[in-house]
Amino acid sequence: MLTRKLLPVRNILPPVTKRASHVHRQRYDVIVVGGGHAGTEAAAAAARVGAETLLVTQKTHTIGALSCNPSLGGVGKGHLVREIDALDGLCGRAGDWAGIHFSILNRRKGPAVWGPRAQLDRQRYREFIQAELLSTPRLEVLEGSVEELLVTDPNPEEPGRHRVTGIRLANGSRPISASSVVLTTGTFLSGSLFVGHTVSPGGRIGDAPSSTGLSQTLRERLGLRVGRLRTGTPPRVLKDSVDLSLAKLHPPDSHPTPFSFMNTRTRCKPEEQLPCYLTYTTPGVERVVRESLHLNCHIQQDAKGPRYCPSIESRVLRFPGRRHQVWLEPEGMTSDLLYPQGLSMTMPPDVQLRLIREIPAMHRAEIHTPGYGVQYDYVCPTQLSPALQVKNTQGLFLAGQINGTTGYEEAAAQGLWAGVNAARWARSLPPAGLSRTESYIGVLIDDLVSRGVNEPYRMFTSRAEFRTSLRPDNADLRLTQKGSLLGCVSSARRDEFLRVKLRLQDAEAALRALTLSPAGWRKMMPGISVSESKNGTLSGMDLLQYKDVSFEMLASLFPEQLSPHIEFSERLKIEAVYKPHCDLSKREVERIQKEENMSLPQDLDYFSLPVSLSKEVREILDRFRPSTLGAATRLEGMTPAAVVNLLNYVQIAE
Ligand code: FAD
Repeated sequence: MLTRKLLPVRNILPPVTKRASHVHRQRYDVIVVGGGHAGTEAAAAAARVGAETLLVTQKTHTIGALSCNPSLGGVGKGHLVREIDALDGLCGRAGDWAGIHFSILNRRKGPAVWGPRAQLDRQRYREFIQAELLSTPRLEVLEGSVEELLVTDPNPEEPGRHRVTGIRLANGSRPISASSVVLTTGTFLSGSLFVGHTVSPGGRIGDAPSSTGLSQTLRERLGLRVGRLRTGTPPRVLKDSVDLSLAKLHPPDSHPTPFSFMNTRTRCKPEEQLPCYLTYTTPGVERVVRESLHLNCHIQQDAKGPRYCPSIESRVLRFPGRRHQVWLEPEGMTSDLLYPQGLSMTMPPDVQLRLIREIPAMHRAEIHTPGYGVQYDYVCPTQLSPALQVKNTQGLFLAGQINGTTGYEEAAAQGLWAGVNAARWARSLPPAGLSRTESYIGVLIDDLVSRGVNEPYRMFTSRAEFRTSLRPDNADLRLTQKGSLLGCVSSARRDEFLRVKLRLQDAEAALRALTLSPAGWRKMMPGISVSESKNGTLSGMDLLQYKDVSFEMLASLFPEQLSPHIEFSERLKIEAVYKPHCDLSKREVERIQKEENMSLPQDLDYFSLPVSLSKEVREILDRFRPSTLGAATRLEGMTPAAVVNLLNYVQIAE
């Protein structure tokens, strides 16, 4: 287990205190458009921070829908879920409520890159998110489609800067005003659905795309650069028609690890968890893909698809002759369907059936819903500030797939941060920042706004330079206090966090107080080869760094001092193991933080800056307008010499 948890999972949903589709005001602090993963976190976060908030979404019953894979977390993505939870977001607790198969991925590697993941029951996930939103104070939910953003013309004193003032719904009702608007329309912006040669407008199957009015406001009125991306989903298969004896059983962890720092256990009992299964494609699958390429219009399009979650067509074309993994995953506790992860496809439905039947475990499989592809517009995220506010439009924030990311976790993380900042904007507070030295959310946002995307962006641990300190186990220590200062953390979580923090400090102090000479330790622990130390003694914390030493072993030697802290044994072990790495990177972090905080004026004329910069570098800086020196450093094309010259300029100008 990653951590020992302190509170039991809540076994009832929060009481719903209001109904959707009732608007009680004509003016809100924050309006959030879209009830997907970004929108739900944004709305809940804005309301927690104290803003009167309205969430407008096309269909209230699809709030919290998992459009594709019914799962949460994984390597990198699990880090995001834990950070969202540390800031009191919804998805971690929803995962604990809806999970039916929990596992920690990457266990063979160090805990810094473990990936908490759960297979989810779709229905339960939606149920939890909807109940949470409908019981959140200061948050109202309205079913409706937003047709247009209301924006002012640029102020003559601030040329090029519009201001958002509200929204207009497609049903022709009166406009609704707000100080800030968070747009989280996912794959719905000019969305088109693809199955075979059939192309129809849509954001996802069964849902209409966003109105053209919204795209027009973004493109024409605000002049934002917009690109096109694509993604896809596999057919859903009837469970009874699959011969699971021909696939490899993949059991869940025997002790499910909750996502949330507020839960001691998951709703699903260990023995109730459902297994997943692993199988592989065959040469027959490749043959069907190749034979049907002319019938498959999605794959022939230019728009870029997700490189790390590709369709079966892309996998076969990129790696011919290989067999590819196909995971057969349950869609819910009582669902009749299986989700064949790895078989996202967009060929005609009869060809999809032929293809899946080329896999032995699915030789008699029946399809419930065919796979399909979706193409959609995204807004190039370099046009946003680190608060996720559109640089040329005050009060307008964007979060989620609209910014070129893919995945629920990436969307939820941006949503939460945009929600916090939209609420702060509405209350005339300065934007809140999260740096890449303190969180994966910071890495995600910094990558988006300073580098942009040219394919759907997903999180990996390799994107985080300081991953030894940005671990899933310590997300609360990194972020909950900050969240509390920003007002987005409930008092219950704050109290629980303070309790844990103090207990951990006590436990570390107890370990440090246990000092012996290396010889003394060797005598007490004969099986462990304890090395010499510089000052002649080693503490219990030093010993815990040894691979073969566990907290439990030390507690059995010093029961009086250590057994009161046994509930934190795993956290303490991880902390001890990573301590030398973290100490090493601390200085580097401090240096970077200094740079991060060195802001670059947004109106700098890079072409006339009196420092030695190449024309190319000046163009890059002018195009991306990084808000800090740290962000400038990471721009593609920035040379170390250019950074030093810029640094010198900023230091003198300060
Ligand atoms: P969404 O979850 O799409 O939510 C957008 C919400 O906005 C919807 O509720 C919609 O009704 C609402 N909305 C849109 N326009 C308006 C409007 N004008 N007015 C009011 N409400 C509006 N991710 C992966 O990681 N791997 C995958 O393989 C994968 N495959 C996918 C396949 C498909 C077919 C789709 C649709 C998505 C896939 N995803 C995948 C992406 C994943 O679903 C998204 O990344 C995630 O849901 C994005 O969250 P979001 O909140 O940005 O948008």
